[in-house]
Amino acid sequence: MFDLGIINGRVYFGKEYRVTNVYVKAGKIAEISKELFECERVLDATKKIVVPGFIDSHVHFALKVGEFESADDFESGSKTAAYGGITTFLDFTDPIFHHDEFRDALEKRKKEAENACIDYSFHATVGDFKGDPDVLKILCKAEGINSIKVFTTYSESNRRCSYEMIEKLFDEEMTLMAHCEEEDLLKKRWESPATYEKARPVMAERSAAMHMADIAERRKSRLYIVHISSGSTLDMIKLKHPAQIGKSIFLESCPHYFYLSDVKLSNIDGNLYLLTPPLRGGKELMRLRSSIGLIDTISTDHCPFMSEEKMKYDMAYQVPMGIGGVEHSFPLMFNLFGDAIIPKFTSKPAEIFGLKNKGEIKVGKDADLVIFDSSLSNTIKESHSKADYTVYEGLKIRGKISATISRGHIVMENDQFFGGQGQFIRR
Ligand SMILES: [Zn+2]
Repeated sequence: MFDLGIINGRVYFGKEYRVTNVYVKAGKIAEISKELFECERVLDATKKIVVPGFIDSHVHFALKVGEFESADDFESGSKTAAYGGITTFLDFTDPIFHHDEFRDALEKRKKEAENACIDYSFHATVGDFKGDPDVLKILCKAEGINSIKVFTTYSESNRRCSYEMIEKLFDEEMTLMAHCEEEDLLKKRWESPATYEKARPVMAERSAAMHMADIAERRKSRLYIVHISSGSTLDMIKLKHPAQIGKSIFLESCPHYFYLSDVKLSNIDGNLYLLTPPLRGGKELMRLRSSIGLIDTISTDHCPFMSEEKMKYDMAYQVPMGIGGVEHSFPLMFNLFGDAIIPKFTSKPAEIFGLKNKGEIKVGKDADLVIFDSSLSNTIKESHSKADYTVYEGLKIRGKISATISRGHIVMENDQFFGGQGQFIRR
């Protein structure tokens, strides 16, 4: 007898769908068969698709930013993520400046994440790092962390890491994640939302991305560029490093860069759309869409704040940066790109970040599954985030998450939330 059977769905196996049944035992996918077996619980997925649970490799729950704290903690953040079909998220440690700080920084975040309803791991984040990069790598590996995040900007908050140190942080067995904006090309102060895009121009992103890609190629190491906001950055990486893309240079983008342009920033509520890097002009947005094939992963950089907090100050640099996104990420991107988007939410992030038991529907893998009804039309009204607004409100999209299953446990079904118990995943 199986614990759970998902019956009659069109099950996604990478290159094709097959109508079959997926059976779960003790949190794992135990059998995939057209035969009917006895199960304690059955979910009928007739006319729906069954895909691996989604992985969001870039979220910020319970993040303190100056006087503000992001609206979602791990409990509400993982809940709204589960409504979006996400079964694993990767968050970050607070920035550390010396290798001695790593263990405490990781323990702190693990403790904060204990009540997450889906699985999780963390990237180690460094600021203006002055410790021993090799010792840090050893400590990370010992704790099951195989990715380190660096910033090429934000020296005002002591987070900018020098290129000399970045060079040493690269490692053949780990993935270096980089926030790419060339600090010297940014204007930082006294910009209104309307001029914010020009203050953090595409050129700054492109320049830092090329710089990082050159180092990665020289070091023969793995680079992951987070939240690429512009098509021209992608095209430039393709021009200069065609052989590395998807093999040792990995590229991430987020739904907002595919849906929203900087026009939003000129509106009276422009503050609500402030995030880093900024929303771009329409041409960059269209170029990003047409270069989707170069993108390895879609993440959200989920970091919403309450609208009152976003609107509190007039100058862009005073506004807490970030928006929400986990709940609508997959349906939004599926609407634009169909099946081609699925690996960017599943097998690709699993492969890049070493989530060995995730990202695929295969016997022996974790039973992280999503039932998705692509026939339902749906207007985005709200989300289950604690934030009081979503930038996608009013968008009409096709498709809805019917159920989210984490290691065999139904976390959400037909809009009803059942909770769950996430685990820290060693990578
Ligand atoms: Zn981020």
